Formats: sequence, structure tokens, C-alpha cells
Amino acid sequence: MTHRPILTHTRDQLAEALARLPGTKALVMTMGALHAGHLQLVREAHALADHVIVTIFVNPTQFAPGEDFDAYPRTLGADMDALETVGADLVWAPSPQDVYPAPATVSIDPGPVARVLEGKTRPTHFAGVALVCTKVVNLVRPDVALYGQKDAQQLAVLRTVFSQLDIPVRIHAVPIVRDRDGVALSSRNQYLSEEERVRARALSRALRRGVEVAEAGAEPGSVISACRAVIEAEDGIDLDYIALVDAGTFEILAGTDGVPLGEAEAAPTLLTDGSRAGRVLIAAKVGSTRLIDNMEVALRGPVRLEGDEARAGGGTEETGARA
Ligand code: AMP
Repeated sequence: MTHRPILTHTRDQLAEALARLPGTKALVMTMGALHAGHLQLVREAHALADHVIVTIFVNPTQFAPGEDFDAYPRTLGADMDALETVGADLVWAPSPQDVYPAPATVSIDPGPVARVLEGKTRPTHFAGVALVCTKVVNLVRPDVALYGQKDAQQLAVLRTVFSQLDIPVRIHAVPIVRDRDGVALSSRNQYLSEEERVRARALSRALRRGVEVAEAGAEPGSVISACRAVIEAEDGIDLDYIALVDAGTFEILAGTDGVPLGEAEAAPTLLTDGSRAGRVLIAAKVGSTRLIDNMEVALRGPVRLEGDEARAGGGTEETGARA
């Protein structure tokens, strides 16, 4: 049975409502304009804790000037209706002043993983994400926080930040929820015209092609060429990057001239069958809307580097093991 979640805005309201929730807590952080992808996080959260807390906050510190902070859809009433259908217990929808009572002078540099791909195009983005996620986790004190693989690099950044700052929360990753035509659900899909929405299918088509050729044993460079060919066959897509990375460490294996991870000499992430867990990622503008998507891939080709050591029990949530 579902019920309307309790809605809070200020920090005091949040603290009071949290005090009335005994037992374990799962946190789902969102920017609102909720869709079935967000609701899947809430559903999975129920299986992990006694209570589910959802935050709805368009975080200014993760947007750069000129990005879509002002245009980002804000639909609190509809979001509350949607959450009622999946049964969240508590919603925190703060104002920027509630989250940042004083201008933030402290910043978190998540390190090399935040400088490639999204971090190259949006250099201040992950510092803002790391800051808001750290603050909200500290305010809510959940046992587990759920994040979507839709933002796979964000997940890698948060794993790094929470682990290195000893923030006592477990991270649970949720696979990407897609529309029937393959397009990954995103609040930003609302910006697309009908014709752009059709064109946007090329992103997931390209990723699927990359997965196919990789799993047939192609080398990382050929995986990227196969993806790129799909995008180039479609008019009106302005590609930012296509890359193949190690799914756990985000070491770039092919497809971008981005800054290499440098000091990160982590062992490759292996799946239970011994193949390397990779992830193909894409970012592109369709019209003026920037979209991102990615897919996990088992790399059966020769991608191990000299001196690589298998990380015992490696893998990712999507394949049942932990990255
Ligand atoms: P956002 O509101 O875009 O900041 O997303 C909030 C959370 O929902 C993040 O952890 C996202 O990765 C996750 N999310 C967004 N879209 C999807 C999707 N299509 N499938 C799974 N998770 C998603």
C-alpha cells in the first residue's frame, strides 16, 4: 500500500521528520522532473532499508554559467504524485538557501576520475556533485544511497569521494531504465522536439553496436569506430565524446583524447568469467540538448595491459558483483 510522502523544505523540517523514522534509511537523490528511471531507484530502495527518503533539488553548484540551471524543469506537484505511486516515506525539497545557508567556500576535488569525459566538458560539474551529495548524505545519514548507472561517471566519482572521505554510507547502483525505443530516460528528454527525440535513438543504437562488436572480440579502438559510424550515419548529432572505459576504475581504454587517469594504476575490473568489465559512454547534443548514455560491456578482446592484476571478485552491480 502506498501513501503520500511527507514533504519537507527546511533543514529543521527534515531533521524533525527523520527523527520520526525509526530503522534503516535509504536515500535517493534527484533533481526532480521524475520519470520511471527515478522511480526504479525508489523501488529498489524499499528492498534495502525500512524507509526511503527522496531529495528533490536542482543543485546550482553543479551547473556552470550558460548551462540549463534556470531552464531545468521544476515539477514538485507531479513529482509528489509520482512518488505516491511507489511509496517514498519522506521528501526533502529544499531551496538553495536551505542547502547552502552560506556561500560554499569549501570545495571537493574528486581527483582524476572527475577530469575525464563529463569532467573535461564540464570542468566544475563533479566538484558540485561531490559537494551536494556529501552535504545531503551528512544531513540525512542514510544507511544506503542509490544512484543510477545513467550517470555512470557520477557513480565512479561518488564511490571515490565517499570512500576516501570515509563517509559512512553504502552505495547501490541501479541499471539504466530506457524507453521502449532504447532512449535512456532523462528529465532533459523534455527539451527535445518530436523529430529530435527520434534522432536521439542513435545514441543507444551506437552503444548497442559497440557492445556487439566488443563482445565479438573487437579491440577497443574498433569498438569506438563501430559506435562512431552509427552516429555519423545520422544527421544533426553533435558528438562530444564516445569512449570505452574500465567499468570500475574509469581508466580510458579507447576513444577520447581526454586526460588519462594518470596515477590511477588500479587493477582492471574483471567479470566472473574473466573478461574485463568495460563501459561504453557517449555524450552528444541533439539540437541544443546535451544527452549522455552508456552501456556495460564484457571485453573479450585483448585489452589487458602489461602488469595488470586481476582484482578478485571484480565486476559491477549490473552483472551481480561489485565494482
Ligand atoms: P537526476 O534527477 O537526473 O539528477 O537523477 C537522479 C538519479 O536518478 C541519479 O542517480 C541518476 O543516475 C538516476 N537516473 C536518472 N535517469 C535514470 C535512468 N534512466 N535510469 C536509471 N537511473 C536514472
